[in-house]
Amino acid sequence: MSTASADASPARGAQPLAVRNLINGEFVESRSDSLIDVINPATQEVVSRVPLTTEEEFKAAVYAAKRAFPAWRNTPITARQRVMFKFQELIRRDMDKLALNITTEQGKTLRDAQGDVFRGLEVVEHACGMATLQMGEFVSNVSHGIDTYSIREPLGVCAGICPFNFPAMIPLWMFPVAITCGNTFVLKPSEKDPGAAMILAELAMEAGVPDGVLNIVHGTTDTVNNICDDDDIRAISFVGSNAAGMHIYGRAASKGKRVQSNMGAKNHAVIMPDASVDATLNALVAAGFGAAGQRCMALSTAVFVGGSKQWEDELVKRARSLKVGAGVEPGIDLGPVITRQAKERICSLIQSGVASGARLVLDGRDITVPGYEDGNFVGPTILADVTGDMKCYEEEIFGPVLLCMQAESLEEAIEIVNKNKYGNGASIFTTSGVHARRFQNEIEAGQVGINVPIPVPLPFFSFTGSKASFAGDLNFYGKAGVQFYTQIKTVTQQWKDLPGQGVSLAMPTSQ
Ligand code: NAD
Repeated sequence: MSTASADASPARGAQPLAVRNLINGEFVESRSDSLIDVINPATQEVVSRVPLTTEEEFKAAVYAAKRAFPAWRNTPITARQRVMFKFQELIRRDMDKLALNITTEQGKTLRDAQGDVFRGLEVVEHACGMATLQMGEFVSNVSHGIDTYSIREPLGVCAGICPFNFPAMIPLWMFPVAITCGNTFVLKPSEKDPGAAMILAELAMEAGVPDGVLNIVHGTTDTVNNICDDDDIRAISFVGSNAAGMHIYGRAASKGKRVQSNMGAKNHAVIMPDASVDATLNALVAAGFGAAGQRCMALSTAVFVGGSKQWEDELVKRARSLKVGAGVEPGIDLGPVITRQAKERICSLIQSGVASGARLVLDGRDITVPGYEDGNFVGPTILADVTGDMKCYEEEIFGPVLLCMQAESLEEAIEIVNKNKYGNGASIFTTSGVHARRFQNEIEAGQVGINVPIPVPLPFFSFTGSKASFAGDLNFYGKAGVQFYTQIKTVTQQWKDLPGQGVSLAMPTSQ
């Protein structure tokens, strides 16, 4: 069955299809007459139309998830894992289809889109070992004839709210872990690029996820508020901007829900004078401009210790040589940004940097891509001599813009990074172990790279953003991810003949 936007784009002249909801195992068209166009950012073509799921449909999705929970939680964990084994196989089979959909709706290059799917696939692979990950603990003989053990039990209905920038990876951070733990799930993909989530849902059903265990609803603020307010939803995973994330965190927490909220970033690279020149320049260019800077772990600020002048010319040369174009074309390094409004915002933040005294050493604003004149393209842009009080530094730009700052010493560079409100990631480039170790100890960021520009941990660790980049206390995937989607029950059992000492009302102790 077609879920709309599973195909890369509608046939020429055809009316774009409406993206469906997934409720109780069925891909159903929404009754809503409010639909948002999903737009190819390289062409402005309408790929599909995403409904603002009605309240009734939303409730039906939650009800389906609630009803499916008892049977699913009692399904043997090995059987739940086996569904994930099949799911990962199907994701591999349909990797190209997923990547093409991501490129069509989100804009990133096909190769980058494959990476988007692959990093999510690794989470599915990790979930295949859930029996070990969800294991409880046992202490024998805590008192005479008494043992205590703990069990990690699923919560019930969980929900996920996704951003536009990783249409496959981020849904895969969420529901595979949640459902393999025994929960059921309601997912709300980004309204800007829901297609990959719909393909993944089809694959999940094909893999054997039972009806009602995974449900999908669409929309924006109203659907999100419904998720926050619903009494049957126990936990919410959110990834996106700070404005939305803090709203969801507050609203859902006031209803007693667990929330893990991964939010915005301003990731710094500190470049020491002893850094390996070629490797560092390549890392800055790749991590600054890859995915057109629309990664939450993009390196958006380079702090050069001992001055940036000696780095600038070569940095500009390498950034200028990148090929900007539609992600479906061969040999392209970076595609368009997601919307026209995003392009306008990025360009105005660049202009604000210039107005406040930064040097624009590479300007990507006036770029035209032949054959894709309507695309939301911004070329690699570098602003030098940026200072901490500039708006372009204070705000997350989320575009292909690298800011260059200067520091006299490693100490000053660390101070700059630590003063920033965000704490997603920070990297140091150096050949000195002493510098690296000091950076690792003193830097206030959740994910630290040492000669690694985008230090996103693989799924056996967790995604550990901190400060304003994260709200909650249990991170995505890894051990923390399993803890987030489970609650602990402790059981104390006594298997001995009760001594005939009468009744004691004193607090029992094990002395
Ligand atoms: P966004 O906040 O605009 O949208 C994310 C989700 O929230 C969408 O599903 C959207 O429908 C919903 N939403 C948006 N505004 C809302 C509101 N006012 N009330 C309720 N719901 C709302 O984010 P985006 O533009 O899609 O994604 C980009 C942002 O996500 C960037 O800030 C980026 O740094 C961040 N991000 C963070 C991580 C991370 O792991 N820290 C990963 C990827 C993206």
